[in-house]
Amino acid sequence: MPKRILVTGGLGFIGTNLIALLRNNGNFEIRVLDNESLGRREYLTEFPEVEFICADLRDPEKVYEGLKDMDCVIHLAADTRVINSIVDPHLNFENNVVGTFNLLNAMRRANVPTIINASTGGAILGDVPPPVHEGMLPEPASPYGASKLAVEGYLSSFSKSYGFEACSLRFSNVYGPRSWHKGSVVAHFMKQLLRGKELVVYGDGSQKRDYIYVEDICQGILSAMQRRVSGVFQLGSGWPTTINKLIARISDVVGSGYPVSARYEDFRTGEILNTWCDISKAEAALGFSPSMPLDEGLARTWCWFIEHRQRLDQ
Ligand code: UDP
Repeated sequence: MPKRILVTGGLGFIGTNLIALLRNNGNFEIRVLDNESLGRREYLTEFPEVEFICADLRDPEKVYEGLKDMDCVIHLAADTRVINSIVDPHLNFENNVVGTFNLLNAMRRANVPTIINASTGGAILGDVPPPVHEGMLPEPASPYGASKLAVEGYLSSFSKSYGFEACSLRFSNVYGPRSWHKGSVVAHFMKQLLRGKELVVYGDGSQKRDYIYVEDICQGILSAMQRRVSGVFQLGSGWPTTINKLIARISDVVGSGYPVSARYEDFRTGEILNTWCDISKAEAALGFSPSMPLDEGLARTWCWFIEHRQRLDQ
């Protein structure tokens, strides 16, 4: 069982939640490597025991230094903005593909042959009939999706060529506390409600997504690390939820002090209508068993947003 863990992108939403989970589940030494492009160093204030290195994955020597004395890497650092990747595919390629290649190559030099990589089903597979699963043919629709597919390919090759334990976890739509800086729908809607603004729904609200609470995702990461698996695994709740249902649940959670009103606009071009995932491979191989009900997860998320609402003024 790895003890010393390097978390790339550890200042982000999933990274900070993962650190909280690891702290309660074992005696880990955690080092974060992050370029502070989105996350802020102060997000680690609640984890004073965590070591922080400010470095960019495009700098191979710094990455190599960051790997010193580590047993395992949890690779969360990525440029995940789909539209930005279409506007500037080269930047996305440099950050995600070159950055991950530098990391893997430095791991080879530093003899740290274990990596868990955050991946995505939606962007890699494109518009396919749900539920999505690992056996589907990848057909990325954006440079971002292509970058994630390339990264999965490099992990597979480092596993087979150099004996790495290398696994890619394809996350569905993750929500939860510590997501203030995210533009994804749950975080965005909660910030709009705090600002007293109406919600905008793109389409008629019937589009379905697989919303999974961040702690369940972090449990999946921990299991992948404990079980030392290689390969690709889809992680999600396994259930579809429409935007209309999501809004109804959020409305229940926030209560009458925050009246919820929604305006309906056209579907956004290029957006997938429905996607959710089949998690049977992860259930069998990782013992993955997401347990947070949507209402409870949204309630916890809203509590966190209320506690941090002073960020509206920052
Ligand atoms: N969505 C919406 N209004 C918003 C933001 C998102 O109706 O202000 C919808 C969006 O059209 C999509 C779903 O919420 O169907 C999830 O969007 P998100 O950007 O979180 O994730 P993705 O589309 O990448 O799955």
